[in-house]
Amino acid sequence: MKWSWKIIRLAGIDVYVHATFFILIAWIGLSFWVVGGNPAAVFTGVSFILALFACVVLHELGHALTARRYGISTRKIILLPIGGVADMERMPDDPKQEIAVALAGPTVNLVIAFVLWLWLSVTNSLQPGLLDLVEAPFLQKLMVVNIILAVFNLLPAFPMDGGRVLRAVLSLHMNHNRATQMAAKVGQGFALWLGLIGLLYNPFLLFIALFVWIGAAAEAGTEQIKSSLHDTAVGRAMLTDFQVLSPGDTLSHAIELTLAGSQKDFPVLVNKAMVGVLTQDDMLKGLQAQGEQYHVGAWMQKEIQSADINEPLEKVLERLQTGHCPLISVTEDDQLVGIINLDNIMELIKIQTAIHEQDGQTKFEA
Ligand code: ZN
Repeated sequence: MKWSWKIIRLAGIDVYVHATFFILIAWIGLSFWVVGGNPAAVFTGVSFILALFACVVLHELGHALTARRYGISTRKIILLPIGGVADMERMPDDPKQEIAVALAGPTVNLVIAFVLWLWLSVTNSLQPGLLDLVEAPFLQKLMVVNIILAVFNLLPAFPMDGGRVLRAVLSLHMNHNRATQMAAKVGQGFALWLGLIGLLYNPFLLFIALFVWIGAAAEAGTEQIKSSLHDTAVGRAMLTDFQVLSPGDTLSHAIELTLAGSQKDFPVLVNKAMVGVLTQDDMLKGLQAQGEQYHVGAWMQKEIQSADINEPLEKVLERLQTGHCPLISVTEDDQLVGIINLDNIMELIKIQTAIHEQDGQTKFEA
């Protein structure tokens, strides 16, 4: 992530802080200066926010270390003004493990609150009026805020931890994708209520409602794509009706093929074996530099990739997104039987989503 700095390394995980976080600190400092009018007030305000974010780091560490017990590593923890994010390499597939990982964060906040309560009780400094966040002593405020953090994170809505718990509980009874879609719907219903209450009482809740709504939609979308690509073989999405070029063809032949059909990228073959790819960009560059009588071989990309017809689409999508090759040739028993690019995969996703929604409707009506 750009604009982030590493501040500390805890249990082998780097903790980064995003530049916008400093805007929050400055804003807090300024508002305490305006209200309190002295450096001591600013110091108290800023140290409270720093203590709060230390609790957020411990919360994220709770997720990360629980995930580590299941063999999942965490790349980093990032602190943003809206909270922390633990960048885990993946979520556990086993719903029970996912529940444990999700609950670990809020549990940390409850433990912190309990320890603070114990300390305040022992030292006899607990003040009446728990929700008074202005006059209460520093540690008491920190205790209350940790309880709020735990409760807020347990709301059954993505991207909150409670949303993950709900999804995991549902997926004990149904497939993962369906559980995600259902949990996302619950989250969005929740966001609507939150937004309504926000409109009436507190504009800040409106902002959170929007955050929850978008988070739920994003989670549902990603899961939909992942699940449909996981179960589908390359053969289902590949293009079987396609034109090919040979290195000796002229660019003008490539222009003819481009204008005659809808294909943009062409495999270049020698004796039925793929030796390169000519994309539309390559063709245009060639035309600009040398004109249409030049040869395809001089302008094609020589980095090629192929996939077996039975490979899951999920893997091929990863290669198309990370590699430099825009087109992958598909083979069956070492024979070229098709080509596939990102457009073909997106097309299939749209079709499968439409079919899935139709399925859902029929079931709902019945
Ligand atoms: Zn969390």
